[in-house]
Amino acid sequence: MKAEASERGYNDLYYGFLGYPISQTADIAFCKATIVPVGEDQVPHMEQTRKILRRFNQLYSPIFEEPKAIVGETPRLIGLDGQSKMSKSKENTINLDASKEDVIEKMKKAKTDPLRIRKTDAGHPEICPVYSYHQAFRKEDTEAIYEGCTNAQLGCVECKQLVATSINELLEPMRERRHQFERQPKRIDEILLEGTSKARLIGEQTMREVREAMQMNYFE
Ligand code: SF4
Repeated sequence: MKAEASERGYNDLYYGFLGYPISQTADIAFCKATIVPVGEDQVPHMEQTRKILRRFNQLYSPIFEEPKAIVGETPRLIGLDGQSKMSKSKENTINLDASKEDVIEKMKKAKTDPLRIRKTDAGHPEICPVYSYHQAFRKEDTEAIYEGCTNAQLGCVECKQLVATSINELLEPMRERRHQFERQPKRIDEILLEGTSKARLIGEQTMREVREAMQMNYFE
């Protein structure tokens, strides 16, 4: 936690860091979620959530099921800078709302195998961030890319274009859907309100149970 704080430019630990597991637990527990899809870096937080709810159940009343973390199969992507995982704050990402041109431009600037100076040099895909994108987005072709790179047959420009095309194909349906919603902002408000109303009802019921279990239901 200290490392994360200093990485983000804080010279001390603030409540946001310490209280995060509590607020995350509240977000999960209010609707009695039993399955939570998370990234692998969130698994320790989920363990905290399970512990907090287990303790509540032991101390007061077993009203919460311990939620399970479901970790997606999608691998974590290294950033375009090749330095660390993709992170908005590091500006090394391709965002889901990126335009076609944006994806192409960003991919052009992506770091590659630092040992491959000329196209005639054999590449080392295992240390190339772009190759890891092939593994994520173009699984069917990774062997051919590996061969082409290590035999110096495939140039980085072409290699990047291939992956940019695949990412654009993946993002295109999302862009279309996004544009549809952008044309009907009232519908977005309605969806948010519908979701909030549903969540509020469930949350109120959970809080009634919590207050009863803790014998703090003075006004009910
Ligand atoms: S050819 Fe592709 S995998 Fe090989 S170094 Fe260039 S960008 Fe990386």
